[in-house]
Amino acid sequence: MNFHLHINLSFLFFVIILFDFVKAICYEHPDPFNYFHVERIPCSYTNNSSQQDPQTSQKAPINYDENMFNITFHCDNKDLVLCDKAKKTFEIAGQIISETLILNTKINVNATFIDLCETDKERCKNTPFRRIMGAAGPARSIILRDDDGVDRLYPQSLVKQFRFKQHPEYGEFDIRARFNSKIDYWFIEDNSTIGKNQIDFLYVVLHEFIHGLGFLSAWNDKIHKALTPKILSNNLIIKNDNNSIENLYIFNGFIEKVFDKYIYFKSTNERLSDVITPQLQKFSPKKTFSIYEEIYNYFKESSEYYVAQYLYKLACKPSTLIFKSHDKKNITLETSLNPFSRSSLNHLQFSTYTRTKDFLMRPGVVAGRSIQYQLDKSGDYSGGPIGPQLKLILETLGYATRDHPLPYKPSPIYSINV
Ligand SMILES: [Zn+2]
Repeated sequence: MNFHLHINLSFLFFVIILFDFVKAICYEHPDPFNYFHVERIPCSYTNNSSQQDPQTSQKAPINYDENMFNITFHCDNKDLVLCDKAKKTFEIAGQIISETLILNTKINVNATFIDLCETDKERCKNTPFRRIMGAAGPARSIILRDDDGVDRLYPQSLVKQFRFKQHPEYGEFDIRARFNSKIDYWFIEDNSTIGKNQIDFLYVVLHEFIHGLGFLSAWNDKIHKALTPKILSNNLIIKNDNNSIENLYIFNGFIEKVFDKYIYFKSTNERLSDVITPQLQKFSPKKTFSIYEEIYNYFKESSEYYVAQYLYKLACKPSTLIFKSHDKKNITLETSLNPFSRSSLNHLQFSTYTRTKDFLMRPGVVAGRSIQYQLDKSGDYSGGPIGPQLKLILETLGYATRDHPLPYKPSPIYSINV
């Protein structure tokens, strides 16, 4: 590269990066089955005078009975009765969450109930009740600044509840949910006992809605037996002399999700955000990459890689990592799976929470076991399927409840400094 060209490139770097950093704080998740695939969305700040800060303005009366979930439902099944039962289940799930949380802004769900075996024959080879069932997740994540000075990804459903006077542009939907209609589901209104191979559809929908509300970790094994949060990258578009366009990626740090702010080592009571993430952030490749995945490969050669390997080993041992709630309760995360899977860290430990009131967010759904069965086994609890520990987790993330009406609130970022 000659000197003249180098100057030109530096100039391009400067112009494009500035433009990007001010706008790129929103990430769209188009596919709930592949939550880690994200698309950066430019979202500028909108001044919404009708939305008042609930902590400084006069409180509007809250109707606790109102269903705060707007379900946009799509069903491709010819069985209209089945479609109707599925739609009602989405509404019941929204109602249950609305009765537990104090939601001040409606949550918009794009829910589809379709034949996933048609498009994904491979994952339908299993017996009917072990087929791919469905998934849901936030439709959009937005970067906010936490009180420890760290920027993290927040699900749009939660960002809306903060009612910032100025907020990043919202997408149409807060949660995207897709469920396979080719599963032997059991519905409450069937008025029958659940069959041993049947799946309680309400159980699945509730579980997935909770993920959509932000019960999700960014820690993942994208390399090989090494855990890192998501890599943030910026695109650099270079127009060559022959008018061809080159798309390059620049490493822009690792980013955690709001859930990760509260993950601690059980044995030392140290927070991952304090002792692991800052070490990983020392990784600073002074180069551009032609594909995003190349950044992970380059990281593998770095001196920070051993930190990610250390965490991987720990996350494959039972009872090592916990979620610490706002009232300092230790809630055990699923770290029994070896190798690490997408279920690890994104759920409560199966063995610890089976036969407890916090059964809902264990990994997997057991066939032949309805929500009512689980509730009967775990003793009386007025909160229904959203157990006491799960309620604490949602409160800690920033959702208000009657027991915790003024939750923690992060700050919006009007421009990102890197
Ligand atoms: Zn799950």
